[in-house]
Amino acid sequence: MIDPFGRRITYLRVSVTDRCDFRCTYCMAEDMTFLPKRDLLSLEELDRLTTVFVEKGVRKLRLTGGEPLVRKNIMHLVRQISRHLVSGALDELTITTNGSQLAKHAAELVDCGVKRINVSIDTLDPAKFRTITRWGNLDQVMAGLDAAQAAGLKIKLNAVALKGFNEHELPELMRWAHGRGMDLTVIETMPMGEIDADRTDQYLPLSKLRTDLEQQFTLTDIPFKTGGPARYVEVAETGGRLGFITPMTHNFCESCNRVRLTCTGTLYMCLGQEDAADLRSPMRASEGNELLSQAIDEAITRKPKGHDFIIDRTTRRPAVSRHMSVTGG
Ligand code: SAM
Repeated sequence: MIDPFGRRITYLRVSVTDRCDFRCTYCMAEDMTFLPKRDLLSLEELDRLTTVFVEKGVRKLRLTGGEPLVRKNIMHLVRQISRHLVSGALDELTITTNGSQLAKHAAELVDCGVKRINVSIDTLDPAKFRTITRWGNLDQVMAGLDAAQAAGLKIKLNAVALKGFNEHELPELMRWAHGRGMDLTVIETMPMGEIDADRTDQYLPLSKLRTDLEQQFTLTDIPFKTGGPARYVEVAETGGRLGFITPMTHNFCESCNRVRLTCTGTLYMCLGQEDAADLRSPMRASEGNELLSQAIDEAITRKPKGHDFIIDRTTRRPAVSRHMSVTGG
């Protein structure tokens, strides 16, 4: 699959549920209305869809959400998809999780061929963790991280950089992550979906964070890539890697290799645009995959050049109406 800008699409992110057991303040409103369960694709349908993408050239697949590990029987889907790792059709199967259910699933993830996972954690302070996630329990996430490392999973932590909330804690979070052999990636908050807070108050440009970090640490740009949008530096003092995901201050769309599938079978060709393609109807219209394959090809011809996110006091509306939990980041 090659889009109109010559970018090869080799990475599929699948949001397996829009539901989550946390309500991170920058991600969701507290009283979210989730999709009725009957609108969700079954696990068999998700497997069928992802398999068609693998047959069409996807080499890396990430399960996300909502919280992927709260979807009922999610390990059944992981197990099914893992056959593509065994056959060599897929290079990597991974997952982005808030870690709350990780202790339960870490060993089985490894057994299914998952090698690396991303765990989202914005602060190491239990009270602040509860505040930012509204419903989360840091001890439970820590137990998940312990279990994941014990099972042999490599972990990258993701932290959304939030002005006045965790900006002064990020150096400590980085030291802690690197001390435990985990990479850390910091992310700029993106204007997706209505939330209860004002995003202008939360937005911290990572260019500023980098300048602040450089007062204390020696950061060296490195060409390390994981197939995602992060740009990495090596931190001399910790010996670890720090990634920056900068959708606001530095557009990284020229190297975009990704498309995103939701749990209802809608394909978003860009995280930051509204245009989407319905894959559920062509999938359900016939037993074979020809219609589905055509619909995917047509969607790829509509992949836009990039996103245009703006966060400022004059731009009140989010860039896209859906929350990050629909497409999974
Ligand atoms: N529940 C899983 C988790 O916590 O990682 C997967 C889904 S979550 C939507 C994926 C990532 O998106 C998390 O790291 C989360 O912090 C991040 N995120 C959510 N809303 C965001 C926003 N508006 N801007 C930037 N990152 C956001």
